Amino acid sequence: MRCEYAWRGSVRSPAVKERQAAIDQACRPGFYKASSGNVKCSKCPPHSYTHQEGAVHCACEKNYFRAEEDPVSMACSRPPSAPRNVISAINETSVILDWTWPADSGGRKDVIFNVVCKRCWLGPRQCEPCRGAVRFLPRATGLANTTVTVVDLLAHTNYTFEIEAQNGVSAQAPTVRQYAAVTITTNQAVQAVSETKTRKIVTPLSTLALRQIIQLPLLSYKTQAEQGDGCVNGQSTPSAVTVIRKDRTSRNSISLSWMEPERPNGIILDYEVKYYEKQEQETSYTILRSKGTNVTLNGLKPDTTYLLQIRARTAAGYGGSSRKFEFETSPDSFSISSENSQVVLIAVSSAVAIILLTVLLYIVISRFCRYSKSKHPDEKRLPFGNGHLRLPGIKTYVDPHTYEDPSQAVHEFAKELEASCIAIDKVVGAGEFGEVCSGRLKLPSKKEICVAIKTLKAGYTEKQRRDFLSEASIMGQFDHPNIIRLEGVVTRSKPVMIVTEYMENGSLDGFLRKHDAQFTVIQLVGMLRGIASGMKYLSDMGYVHRDLAARNILVNSNLVCKVSDFGLSRVLEDDPEAAYTTRGGKIPIRWTAPEAIAYRKFTSASDVWSYGIVLWEVMSYGERPYWEMSNQDVIKAVDEGYRLPPPMECPATLYQLMLDCWQKDRNNRPKFEQIVSILDKLIRNPSSLKITASTTSRPVNLLLDRTSTDITSFHTMGDWLESARTLPCKDAFSGVGYSSCDTLAKTSAE
Ligand code: AMP
Repeated sequence: MRCEYAWRGSVRSPAVKERQAAIDQACRPGFYKASSGNVKCSKCPPHSYTHQEGAVHCACEKNYFRAEEDPVSMACSRPPSAPRNVISAINETSVILDWTWPADSGGRKDVIFNVVCKRCWLGPRQCEPCRGAVRFLPRATGLANTTVTVVDLLAHTNYTFEIEAQNGVSAQAPTVRQYAAVTITTNQAVQAVSETKTRKIVTPLSTLALRQIIQLPLLSYKTQAEQGDGCVNGQSTPSAVTVIRKDRTSRNSISLSWMEPERPNGIILDYEVKYYEKQEQETSYTILRSKGTNVTLNGLKPDTTYLLQIRARTAAGYGGSSRKFEFETSPDSFSISSENSQVVLIAVSSAVAIILLTVLLYIVISRFCRYSKSKHPDEKRLPFGNGHLRLPGIKTYVDPHTYEDPSQAVHEFAKELEASCIAIDKVVGAGEFGEVCSGRLKLPSKKEICVAIKTLKAGYTEKQRRDFLSEASIMGQFDHPNIIRLEGVVTRSKPVMIVTEYMENGSLDGFLRKHDAQFTVIQLVGMLRGIASGMKYLSDMGYVHRDLAARNILVNSNLVCKVSDFGLSRVLEDDPEAAYTTRGGKIPIRWTAPEAIAYRKFTSASDVWSYGIVLWEVMSYGERPYWEMSNQDVIKAVDEGYRLPPPMECPATLYQLMLDCWQKDRNNRPKFEQIVSILDKLIRNPSSLKITASTTSRPVNLLLDRTSTDITSFHTMGDWLESARTLPCKDAFSGVGYSSCDTLAKTSAE
């Protein structure tokens, strides 16, 4: 080659001459030549520069670096940003941490993750490195994948895990660590649970959403203590009892029952019930202990007001006391003297006769009403309308319509806020009654919090004001980590406002579309679990949502999903998806169960159908159910037994759950409680999510016919069915305790 070049030298063309000149020349600023041989000057790679002539390499820009082994021709790079969307799934004393890749990998591919474990007491500043037997699977440092399992943690203990992203130049960067942190509280250890078999066992994942406090960069940090749980020697005590119900009162006794604290943080050993006469100002009081969630206070004075507080006790100690509840015994007027006992006897017999007559009359009238109601399209939302048996002591939803004066309902269930405590920042959405804004709420002696503010636009009618505020009357009755929390209302000044907690990521449908294919299956299941848990709470309360859809779920910065959009008739009026049916009334057809479309039979079971559609929306990252099919075609297809096919890469177990939610007979659909438990098991056993329902490409607008005797004949189902029908089906569902193969067989035989 060289000889040839030398020979050609004597007869060089102008182009060759030019090239040789370029090689002989010293490089200009912005160019470099690593060796002095016959090479051309090269432009400085990205994020590097040289201001001098004749440079042999380019220096990196500020905050950019080159690893030792990086060639000079490689772009300078920087450390990665922090991992994102950390999700924790707690299973007794172990936790699976899952996160997504940093938004900025720093321009390198050699990103690895290190997980630091800290055991924390009252806050992030009171932490120490985890010691002892805590184990990381596969390991704590140098992780190439975005998941790790941490086992052998202590029971009922707060831990903070810092997940740091590093790459080949992280060591050269100044000391800022790029990490995301998650704080969790472990549950009861397995051994302790089996020792106390007879007690109610706290479902390990039942409070996952609440316990999962994720600290991403720029997010404010919330400690467990701020959430109302106490801490004894680093162990969390139960949260306060918040719901107490008076079951019966007499002249000398009061029977009460209450709900277990929302965060028991362990097995509840017993409850301490403290009560005293209101007049006595707590100078003398009585303490009772109760193993269950009810008690009868005997030996009380007639017509007297008593104050009462309850607190739960676990192995970690007493939890916070409930607020003081006030109860009155019956007045003395019923005391019977021996002289007039005969008169009383006659009076009592007459009363019994009147009651019997009233009951008889009621039965006749209610039968008549039921008949006429079934013909009436406008069935109202009733507290006991979901077909669930609710136990005494469980708070039930009160329909604000049952109040003669609806503004009384608002003031019963919602706190009146001073407008001066609210600062509006910007508009974030549009509601039916006016704009939705983000802002801040600062109540006296409370920390400032971010809020969403729904406003009622000027020129409203009295009915619009009532309908607008009915959402607050409903929301104010709920208290659950997966239900949007009402902070209060402004009704005494204008504009009228409803103030709720702020959900940074907005509606779930838009959020998923924006982050198409960016989450792990476990993260999606975590979100779905939250929605199911919120819905379980609502159905336990006797509330039927009627408009459950991804657009009505809000997502916060920790990926916690919360059910929103409550209201009376207006929920459906407000929803752009709702369409008029032949029976009148607006219904979001694609999300609604056939019996609710056909004869307005809205129950928790119809909410379960809608949940199945939300499940499909989540697994398909916000795709529109039934795509561009018309509402009429959807009604017809569903009625004929067709169902949506599995979304791309949807685990078979989740698709089976969808199909079960879409059972025609509403009695065969799972209850929300079962759905929560199924999802918990899937989270604890992630391998059960590995078999996908469809390994082929995303199905195109083809519904699955459930009535077919051979559903394998559907091409888009082929792979899924193959895997579900044969052995792997058993593998997929084993450990989940969910007999999906049976259901499948049944489906095929139908
Ligand atoms: P809505 O009237 O409840 O349907 O709200 C209209 C829109 O406002 C929603 O689609 C959200 O984008 C936004 N929005 C409502 N409530 C909140 C909230 N609590 N936090 C953040 N955005 C919200």
